[in-house]
Amino acid sequence: MRLAIKGSGYTSASKTEIEFLNQVLIVVNDQGKIEKIINQHDDDYASLLQLAKSQNKLVELSENQYFLPGFIDTHIHAPQWPNAGLALDKPLNEWLNEYTFPLEAKYQDLSFSEKVYDNLTKNLVDFGTTTAVYFGTIYPESNLVLAKMCNKNRQRGLIGQVAMDDPDMNPEYYLDKSAADSIAKTKRFIDELKQQNQTNVIKQTPVITPRFLPSCSLEALRGLANLANQYDLPIQSHCSESNWENGYALEKYGKRDATVLDECGLMNNRSIMAHGTLLNDSDLNLFETNGVTVSHCPISNVYFGDGILPVKRILNHHVNLGLGTDISGGFSPSMYDNVKQSILSSQQLQSGVDTRIDAQKRGVPDSRITAKTAFYLATVGGAKAINLPTGELKPGYLADLQIVENQPKPFQPATSDDIFENLMYATTQNDIKAVYVEGLQAK
Ligand SMILES: [Zn+2]
Repeated sequence: MRLAIKGSGYTSASKTEIEFLNQVLIVVNDQGKIEKIINQHDDDYASLLQLAKSQNKLVELSENQYFLPGFIDTHIHAPQWPNAGLALDKPLNEWLNEYTFPLEAKYQDLSFSEKVYDNLTKNLVDFGTTTAVYFGTIYPESNLVLAKMCNKNRQRGLIGQVAMDDPDMNPEYYLDKSAADSIAKTKRFIDELKQQNQTNVIKQTPVITPRFLPSCSLEALRGLANLANQYDLPIQSHCSESNWENGYALEKYGKRDATVLDECGLMNNRSIMAHGTLLNDSDLNLFETNGVTVSHCPISNVYFGDGILPVKRILNHHVNLGLGTDISGGFSPSMYDNVKQSILSSQQLQSGVDTRIDAQKRGVPDSRITAKTAFYLATVGGAKAINLPTGELKPGYLADLQIVENQPKPFQPATSDDIFENLMYATTQNDIKAVYVEGLQAK
């Protein structure tokens, strides 16, 4: 036994429901997986509780504390962390060329990389994010530092060696020399991360990462897809994010960007495509058929998405959805903030925003999502995206969880549903009292 937790908490039961686990004992085995979840009436409850106590492995939650699965951030640009909350009043091209690319180019400096990535991974863990799917930079050595910091701060990282080789679309100082260079650096990163993992306690995963269609040649995209197949690796990119990006593919290739990515072999059940605000029905059919996940980044979308992602429509289309912070297109490292924004944005989609339009025609009916659905995206949707048994508290799943405190209001009784909703809306970094990854304490 690695750990036992005694108390109450929540796990997602479906896209619209949660399960309240009332006064249970979660037993975590030596491999970091949940062995069993039992309650006081089960035969082995007393003996396991005693065993956990005697081995000093028991964590007992206080009355106002609850356990939740750790969150999975399915889209975040690690090198942009110093810019979180900066320059969001700039148009996209200025934001990229004056703020984002110059910063990303600094990561050739490995001591700068270490300083930023140590701080970032620690911050995310402190916010209850136990797994993050990162874009790194174009520098393999720096991305290896990110992997090292994930391991140090006990976070599971899926880490992308960013590929961008089109000289017309990227600055000269921050560019892969050729498609062959993109592919060679990605291969080097994969091989060296495999070496590093031999001593990592929390294993880190390389991700095939063409930045987005406009920044890559077709030769690079095809070569990267071959690597993904050869090494059986996850893939990430951006897709149908903005009017500009969507229009770029149509103008250059006469096709939707999802179609071009698919033709290059990059759209499968290990692919995560960020944003998707402008996906149309035929794109969604492609996502559904190929099992591609959309990473919904609701804060970032307000700034750069040119629209609100219709979460409910996409879920009804049987397309998997995760949630992402998209630092620094989004300003907050907190998945709680993104849970809230996904709910707020869906409300606005439903009611509409331009009051000069008649109320009946202003919004998109049946768009509103609840906190339970947003929680599903942050946990189960994310876990499906990365094909790992996490994001749920069930036997056989990785013991990735957070312990959160919620101060009850003395003047109002609360049901377990009320408490859950309050946890989603009111939790701050300070309220997250402990975080475990594979049953190892990270906070
Ligand atoms: Zn992004």
